[in-house]
Amino acid sequence: MIRVMNAVTSQGKNEEIVSYNPATQAEVGRASQMSSADVNAAVERSRAVFENWKITSFAERSRLVMRAREVILAAMEEIAHLISDESGKPFGEAIAMEIAPVLDLMQYFARNAEKLLGTSSIAIGLYGLLGRSSRIVYHPLGVVGIIPAWNYPFSIPLGETVMALMAGNTVVIKPSELTPLVGLKIGEIFAKAGFPDDVVQVVTGDGRTGAALVDAAPDKIMFTGSVATGKKIAAAAAKNLTPVVLELGGKDPMIVFADANLELAADAAVWGAFCNSGQSCSSVERLYVEESAVEELTRKIVAKTRQLKQDKGDKETTSIGAMSSERQVQIVEDHVEDFRAAGAKIETGGRRNPDLEGLFYEPTVITNTNNDMRGMREETFGPTLPIATFTTEDEAIRLANDSEFGLTASVWTRDAAKGKRVAQQIEAGSVCVNEVLYTHGIGQTPWGGFKNSGRGRTHGREGLLELVQPQHIHINHLSLLPNAWWFPYSPISVETFRGFAHKFASGSLIKTMALMPQLFKRIKELLKANKQSR
Ligand code: NAD
Repeated sequence: MIRVMNAVTSQGKNEEIVSYNPATQAEVGRASQMSSADVNAAVERSRAVFENWKITSFAERSRLVMRAREVILAAMEEIAHLISDESGKPFGEAIAMEIAPVLDLMQYFARNAEKLLGTSSIAIGLYGLLGRSSRIVYHPLGVVGIIPAWNYPFSIPLGETVMALMAGNTVVIKPSELTPLVGLKIGEIFAKAGFPDDVVQVVTGDGRTGAALVDAAPDKIMFTGSVATGKKIAAAAAKNLTPVVLELGGKDPMIVFADANLELAADAAVWGAFCNSGQSCSSVERLYVEESAVEELTRKIVAKTRQLKQDKGDKETTSIGAMSSERQVQIVEDHVEDFRAAGAKIETGGRRNPDLEGLFYEPTVITNTNNDMRGMREETFGPTLPIATFTTEDEAIRLANDSEFGLTASVWTRDAAKGKRVAQQIEAGSVCVNEVLYTHGIGQTPWGGFKNSGRGRTHGREGLLELVQPQHIHINHLSLLPNAWWFPYSPISVETFRGFAHKFASGSLIKTMALMPQLFKRIKELLKANKQSR
């Protein structure tokens, strides 16, 4: 639970965010509700230090990022417990799903950003024949504003920050109001690693602080959160033409064919739906199983779900922790009630855990569902696993694609060709075959959504390219002659232009060679015109 409350001051200022542990309701700590003026000042400082940071060598950026890894490793247990305290997730899961993947991302971009952003030549086909060459050079953008959600409060903003820094940008992070202390911890890590002052800054606060960051016109916004907020940010950013990457919601399908290893598919479904209490953008939110396997798969899923231990996140034996906010629990309750009312069957769970005091909702398996039910259409973002059936491959694909979202998906089959064939027909940014959920953890691969799940990419080379400005350098190595397409135009030039359209633009070397006599005629004409005008 989180409250934004006013601390008592004579000016009515110094509003604070109080962060509560959702498992115990105990206060974890407080952070300032920063104002527009605070945010503008942070962005200005960020702009000022960008001038030096952008000329820092890749080797130095890499050294500092590797140093930040050491800082994290040295404080790993403490960081994992802080993540668990603020978000409710088991602290072991914080290590597995946040700290380990982001450490891998850090070493990868520290070691490879220079190569990934290296200057390279571009093949320009027949223009090369005319003595031209082209190169691409990548420049940093400037100040990158990062506005993350609360569900992976460490790995998402930290990973994006490292990529932005390696590309030569400076960063201002506005963490979620549900996890401000994890956000501040990220700032502390960069400071301890020895990054120059203000290269990474953290501004705490709720949506108002986020809106102020967008209005401060940084050079890019990297946003992770709901579709509704994504739309607001896109509209606000448009005022300054600030480019935005939007990582939004999901309603991710898992398709299980009858020939799949059902034991593994059941394990994957349970983990994919219930890890982080189902509060992952790439959680399994819809399971479609081939009719002939539904009974066996459901039986296995229900049995495995009933064995999971739900408890506070600070215990090593906890598999399912608390949910992050009361609001989120209420959404889950609404969706489960809707399933019930629509005739679906709750196989296990379907209620708050009566034995625990905090925000614990039991992992819930639901059968007899279909795509008309609300819980199959809207993002639930909680520990629910609704199961529906299909009879043909085409039907499975149609059901999976019947959604406004398209973040990730998974296909389960022993037939490799079928797996790939189906995967490519799913409208989602990442599709796994016989794997589930975890690909955000592979920093080397692009991450992002189709449809309402987002715009742009984070991670991978594609994500790195979101954080730079490409510059094309074009060189004429034969600059002794005028260009055939320059002034003055004449009947000879127009004939040459016809040749460009029919021959040169065909991309064929043989056809272009046939244009040469006409080209020489035109160049001769231009040289004569130059002489006359002297
Ligand atoms: P949210 O949209 O409520 O908030 C996200 C962030 O935006 C917070 O930091 C918030 O303070 C800030 N914010 C709110 N209003 C703002 C405004 N007007 N201007 C600027 N910033 C503003 O989302 P949430 O509840 O924190 O996160 C849950 C959502 O995030 C889910 O839909 C989930 O699927 C999505 N998510 C997506 C990904 C992905 O990679 N696609 C990853 C994690 C979470």
